[in-house]
Formats: sequence, structure tokens, C-alpha cells
Amino acid sequence: MSSVKEKHFRKLKRKKIWPSIAAFVLFIIMCVVMVALFLQLFALYIMGTKIVRQYGEAQHVKAVLEGFLSNGEPLEKAVENMHRYTLGESDIYVIDREGRFVLKTGFSEPDFNMVLDFKLDEAFGLADGFVAVADNRNEAAYEDGAYTIFALPLDEVVKMTFSPGHNGLGAWLNDTIITQRYWLRTSLGSEYDAYVKCLIQVQRQDIFYICIFGIIALLLLMIPIILLFINTIRSIVTQRRMTQLIYLDAVTGGKNWFYFHNYAERILTRRRNSRKPFAIVNLHLERYQNYCACYGVKAGEELLEAMEGFLKARMGKNEFFARYEGADFGLLLSCEGENEQANQAYCRKRIRSLLAELSGLKPDQKIHFSAGINLIPPYVPEDGKWYHTRKDVDINQLYTYANAARITDAGAEEKQITFFDQEMLDRQVWERWVEDTMEEALNNEEFHVYMQPKYSPLNGKLVGAEALVRWISPTEGLIPPNRFIPIFEDTGFVTQLDDYMISHVAKLQAEWMIQGRKMIPISVNVSRAHFAQEGLADHICQLVDAYGPKHDLIELEVTESAFFDDKDILVETVKQLKAYGFHVSMDDFGAGYSSLNSLKDIPLDVLKLDGEFFRGEDDDGRGQVVVKEAIQLARNLDMRVVAEGIEKKEQVDFLASQGCDMIQGFYFAKPMPIEEFEEKVEKDA
Ligand code: C2E
Ligand code: MG
Ligand code: MG
Repeated sequence: MSSVKEKHFRKLKRKKIWPSIAAFVLFIIMCVVMVALFLQLFALYIMGTKIVRQYGEAQHVKAVLEGFLSNGEPLEKAVENMHRYTLGESDIYVIDREGRFVLKTGFSEPDFNMVLDFKLDEAFGLADGFVAVADNRNEAAYEDGAYTIFALPLDEVVKMTFSPGHNGLGAWLNDTIITQRYWLRTSLGSEYDAYVKCLIQVQRQDIFYICIFGIIALLLLMIPIILLFINTIRSIVTQRRMTQLIYLDAVTGGKNWFYFHNYAERILTRRRNSRKPFAIVNLHLERYQNYCACYGVKAGEELLEAMEGFLKARMGKNEFFARYEGADFGLLLSCEGENEQANQAYCRKRIRSLLAELSGLKPDQKIHFSAGINLIPPYVPEDGKWYHTRKDVDINQLYTYANAARITDAGAEEKQITFFDQEMLDRQVWERWVEDTMEEALNNEEFHVYMQPKYSPLNGKLVGAEALVRWISPTEGLIPPNRFIPIFEDTGFVTQLDDYMISHVAKLQAEWMIQGRKMIPISVNVSRAHFAQEGLADHICQLVDAYGPKHDLIELEVTESAFFDDKDILVETVKQLKAYGFHVSMDDFGAGYSSLNSLKDIPLDVLKLDGEFFRGEDDDGRGQVVVKEAIQLARNLDMRVVAEGIEKKEQVDFLASQGCDMIQGFYFAKPMPIEEFEEKVEKDA
């Protein structure tokens, strides 16, 4: 997956639902706090109005008392009158300015240690001198419904009875449920301070009002809460859908590659899985495009869908799969073997049965599958401890290796299942490097012509040479042809190399002629791919004529395998080349399939016996018989014979005895650079 695509996916995934949920919870908390605050304020307001009323009454008591006092009545009398005047409702506790007790009514007293702070002064505009203290017997003294006031030190008892005035709901609401007593201070003339006892009574209706207020506030807040709740739910649903979409494969309806990528990485990097072997498999439906072309794209997609359903049912714990692209699926399988061989065997068995079952998905249609497997061994950390996890897991790379393994052996029927190995990867990396650099290397003249001399077995004289290419790369050093010629052949680049070699040999021959050196024929390899081209003879002629050496100094080696291609073109080209005066040889005769038949139709000049004839031991002399007969055959067809790959003296002697014309092999000389070759020719002359 490209990094841009991945970034985009991650961004979408990061759109979490948590912010909406957090906003919702925060809003609820805010509402609760607000309602609680309002309720408290409302309760305070109710209590405040009650206290203010009590304060007014205390002021009234004070006014009455002061009225009596101003009439010249003594304090006791004034209090008694006031008491009578107020029907004994207000107890009073008088102290002088030094704080000494003077007189009191009622049987409880202010508790001066508990000064109450109602914090009402400002809110209700009460005078600065507002002082309230608790009652010392508040809770115990009075029974609900009735209480007695003792007037002390006046010897009078006024008994008052409070009883519920009405019946029914009104009375029930009016019931006092909390009674709180306290004393309010007020000055009495210039000599005394009086504390007037007050009652705060909380009726049911107060609670009722508070509740009603709370319910209304809650109802009002419910609207935004519900709206926000709906919004939050919607965000959650949207997020879920989005996640599903991100991970959805539109073709199969299953999980897509992004999911596979994330999930496989999670499984492989889990610590408890680091000891377990896994396999990443590239499962490929062969010729899917062809299937779509024949049965329609819809049928093709249905087939992929069926594969999805089939694979889903075959996955075990810690295993899953997804479509990569086209008709390629990636599978993560957990293996059960003890070692690599056992894992290979396990995977091979499992994949083979999977492929066999898959092939039967469409009973009336032939479908074929192949698989590349990349085994992921248990992770063995350097310190050998198992608490580590697999590091740097790159799922795409692991899958690519599995895919590369499959592609490498694509086409080979017996290789329906291929395992990835490092050697395979190295080979592919090398091939890519060659392909990337070959053109530049040719332009930079990194290809060098080496010469391997050919000798006459009769007199040991240097009678010819084969031009062989060597790639001397500034980074890789000397690269032998077998490492790049097959790649050049696959890519078709070999024809350019052949042209390069023919031109260089022609140039060398021309130079040697001008320099007056001994002239010997040089053979150049012409690849099989070249022979598919029409007008090859003319093309070679042009290349050689650009430098002007005699044509018979140049021999063109055609590999035996070329004779199995279009024979008509080959025969035509060879005839033309011969007509231009070039020599033509059949290289590697006897290495591959028998081309005896070709010898009949193609007028070749030289037969090069492959080095394989001379490899290994020839105890029973059968090899010698074949060589002898091959030489005889060539001679009968009027062809000269070159034996390649000769390393031993006995071989030279045998070939000499059989009338072999030339010998090319390490016994005489290895391929060498031009300067060395020139020296050798010089010496030999
Ligand atoms: P070839 O054309 O059959 O070349 C002969 C190969 O046998 C050369 O390998 C040579 O070094 C090797 N050889 C010669 N004598 C002995 C010996 O006594 N023992 C052993 N073990 N080997 C011997 P080289 O140079 O590595 O070339 C390998 C092949 O690469 C050639 O086989 C040819 O098919 C191809 N090739 C080389 N140069 C060119 C080129 O310029 N163009 C094309 N198209 N192919 C080339
Ligand atoms: Mg050759
Ligand atoms: Mg050869």
C-alpha cells in the first residue's frame, strides 16, 4: 500500500467517537451541576425570605418593647407586656451592654458559641447589625404540633398549642417538616441588647416548590440532552460504518488488504505469537482476465466472492485472508511444524488441499490456482529470551516475497506451490540490477571483448579464437557472461550486445590488418533471439563493413537450440551469411536436443562439439565413440570440427588422432583480454 494511501486510511480511522461521547458526558455533568446549583439557590431564596420575615418580626418585638420602656415601665414589666402583646409567641433573652444576663423568657437560650452566618445581609438588604445565634436546645425541646413557653423569671406559663388548621391536600402541604430555632440580636434602648427567638419552619410546600422547580429545569435541559444523545449515537454509528467501509473489499464483500495489512501485523508482532511459525501465502487464480473475457466480469466477480466464502470457512485461530488485487488473495496461516521442513510439509499439504478444493468451486468450468508461500519462522531474539516480539514486520514486503516466489515458477506445472527462499530473492534482485544498468553499461563500454584462442591439435598452432564478452562493472567488478546473458536473452537486449561484439571484432580485425599482424579468423556468438529477425545477414554485413575487414575472418556461432526455432528463416539467414563470405558454426553441438536433422538442411562450415562430451570419466570408452562418430559425421558433411572445453592432454591426443581441426579449451588457453591475446598471436607467429 502506498504511503499516501496508508496516511489517508489512518486519518479516516483516527476520526474517533470519543470526542462526541466525552462532549455528551461533559454536558450531562454540566446540566447536573447547573440544576443542583439552581436548586440550592432556590432553596436559599425560600429560606432567605423566611429569615427576613423573622427578622421583621424581631424588629417588631424590639419596637413594642421600646414602646413600653419609653412609657417608663421597668424592663421586666415591658417584657411581660410585650409577651402578652405578642401572645407569647416571641421569647426574648436580654443582656446588658457588658454582656451580662438580665432576663429571659422561654426555657431555651441562645447558644452564643454558635453564631450563625446566613450570608443574607447583602442579598436581602438586612442591616449590618444582623446577628443570629443558634438555640441551645433546638432539637429536643419541642414536639411537633405543640410546645410550651416558660416565661422566666416571670412566673407565668403561657401554654400554646399549634395544631394543623385544615384537612386535605392544602393542610398536608402546609405541614411543617423541619423546624429550626435561632435567636436574632437587636438593641434595646441604650442599655440592653435583646435576642429574639425565631423559628424557621420548612413546610412540605417548600420542598414541593423546589421539586417542581427542579423538574422544570430538568425538563428544559432534557431537550438539548436528547439532541446531543442522538448526535452522539449517530457519530458512533457513522464511525462504525466508516470503519466497515475502510476495511471492506468492494468486490468480494469481505475484508480488504488494508485490514489484512493491519491485522496480520498485529498478530505477528504479538508477544505470545513470537514463538509460533506463520506463513504468508499469495494465492492466485490463474488466467482470471481470460475467465472474465469468456464468462463476463460479473461471473468473474462472483467467482471471487465464492472464493471469499470458501476461504472464510477454512481459516483457523490467528488466521485470516483478504483479496490483494485482481484475483490474488493474501493468506496468513499459522503453521504447526517443529522445524522449517516440517512447516514446509504442513503448508504444502494444507495449500494443496485448499487449491484442490478451490479448483472444484465451479464444477463445469476449469479453474486453476497457484500459490507462493513465504514461511515466517519463530522469532529467535539474540539473547534467546522469548519475551521479545517480532520486530520490523512489513506485511507488504513479506507478501511480495510470497508473490515473487509464485511468479518465479509460474508456468511450471509441477510448481503449483512454491516456497520463497533468500536465493530466489537474490536472483531477482540481481536480475533487476542487470536490467536497470545494462543499457548504460553498454553505452559506457563496460563490456569488454575477451579472446579464447583455438589451436590445431596437430601442430599446436594458434589457428583461431572465439570472442567472449566480459562485463567489467565499476561496482560489481568482472561479471562472467552466464550471470547476465540469460537475462539479456529474456529481455531481448542480447541482440544489442551481439551487435556490439560483432562491431568490436570487426574493428579489431580491421586494426590488425592495418597493423600488419597475422590474421586469424575470430568467431562471435550470435544469440538465438537474433535469428528471429529478418534481414540479419544484411545487418551483420553492415556492421562488419563499417570497419572493412575481410568477411572470411569472421565466423558467426549459432547455438544449437536456435535450430529449433523457425528453421526456414535460419536456413535463409545462414545461406545469406555464407553468400556474404562469413563462416557460420553450430555452437554447443550435442549439449541439448539432437539437431542432427538440421545438419542436413543447413550448410554450416563448422561444428563445435560441446564441452560436455569431455566432462567426467569415460571408463568404457563410449564417450570417445560418440565424439569419433560426430567428427566423422562433420567431415562427411564437409564441415570443420572444433572441440570445446578441452582441459586434458589425453583429450587433445585423442582429438588429434580423430582428425579434429581445432581445439578450444583451458588446456591451451583461457579467455583473455585483447592485449594478452595480441601478444600470444605475436609469439605464435
Ligand atoms: P560458448 O559460446 O559455448 O563459449 C564457451 C564457453 O566455454 C566460455 O564460457 C568459455 O570460457 C568456456 N570454456 C572454454 N574452454 C573451457 C574449458 O576448458 N573448461 C571449461 N570449464 N570451460 C571452458 P564463457 O565465456 O563463460 O561464456 C559462456 C557462454 O556465454 C558462451 O558459451 C556463450 O553462449 C555466451 N556468451 C559469451 N560471450 C557472448 C557474446 O558475446 N554474445 C553472446 N550472444 N553470447 C555470449
Ligand atoms: Mg560460442
Ligand atoms: Mg560453446
